[in-house]
Amino acid sequence: LHDSYDPNNIFAKIIKGEMPSIKVYEDEVALAFMDVFPQSEGHTLVIPKLVQARNLLDMPSDYLGQYMLKVQKVTRAVEKALTPDGLMVSQFNGAPAGQTVYHLHFHIIPRWEDKPLGR
Ligand code: 5GP
Repeated sequence: LHDSYDPNNIFAKIIKGEMPSIKVYEDEVALAFMDVFPQSEGHTLVIPKLVQARNLLDMPSDYLGQYMLKVQKVTRAVEKALTPDGLMVSQFNGAPAGQTVYHLHFHIIPRWEDKPLGR
C-alpha cells in the first residue's frame, strides 16, 4: 500500500500521450477515458493529472476536493449520455482489494436493472 509511485505506470503513460486511450473528458485537473475491459457499457475511469498518487491513501488532501468534483462531473455526464438505472462508483487500494494499476482512479460503472456485470 505504501510503495512509491511508478512514473511509468499505464495511466501515467496515458496522461503523457505515450499510450492510446479513448478520452471522454480532460482538463488541467483530471482525465476521463474508457476502461479497456469494461464491466458494463460506458465503464469510465477518472484519474487526477496534477499529482502522482497511487491510491486514495496517498492522495494529498489539498488536491482531493478538485479531483472529486471532476469524478462527480464525469459521473453526471455518463448518466446523461447513457441514462442507466444506476451507477457504481468504485475505487480500490492495494492488490488484495483488487487494485491493478497504481495511479489513483475511480471507476464509473453504469448499471441497468436487467443487466448483470460482465466483461
Ligand atoms: P483497478 O483494478 O486497478 O481498480 O482497475 C484498473 C482498470 O484499468 C481495470 O478496470 C482495467 O480494465 C483498466 N485498464 C488496465 N489497463 C488499461 C489500459 O491500458 N487502458 C485502459 N483504458 N484501461 C486499462
